[in-house]
Amino acid sequence: MYPFRIGYGYDVHALAEGLPLVLGGIEVAHTKGCVAHSDGDVALHAICDALLGAAALGDIGLHFPDTSPQFKGIDSKRLLGRCVELLHERGYAVGNIDCTIAMQRPKLRPYIDRMREAIARTVGIETDAVSVKATTTEKLGFEGREEGVSASAVVLIFKSGCQ
Ligand code: MG
Repeated sequence: MYPFRIGYGYDVHALAEGLPLVLGGIEVAHTKGCVAHSDGDVALHAICDALLGAAALGDIGLHFPDTSPQFKGIDSKRLLGRCVELLHERGYAVGNIDCTIAMQRPKLRPYIDRMREAIARTVGIETDAVSVKATTTEKLGFEGREEGVSASAVVLIFKSGCQ
């Protein structure tokens, strides 16, 4: 058994006028925000699923059901922190995270470094080990029509002590 494992996560949320837009653990100024049971942070949800996936621990819906009042409006950084704890309990440490957010508007470039810092702080790793990328979909699909946002993430985890 290799000490390294990789995980992949993907998430989508619909956009609606007048809701706060939370992405990568921070608020982004926009006229629309994600419709969700939690704060709707697709980027963090994709990262949570990637971490859980790397350890074959199921998915975010299994651990934090959207039918539970406990998670209503919850800051997704708390969900991410819990996923990291689940890995630590099993002897895994997080190596690095690479996340891509697809949305047409607004331009996310000015927010990227703050997202990286927020994620790194929550996971307990160096900012250098966290990559956040943003892309439009050239006005194609639901992201391009500004109906929703998608995010995907890959992570590497390793058995602590194998650094
Ligand atoms: Mg989600």
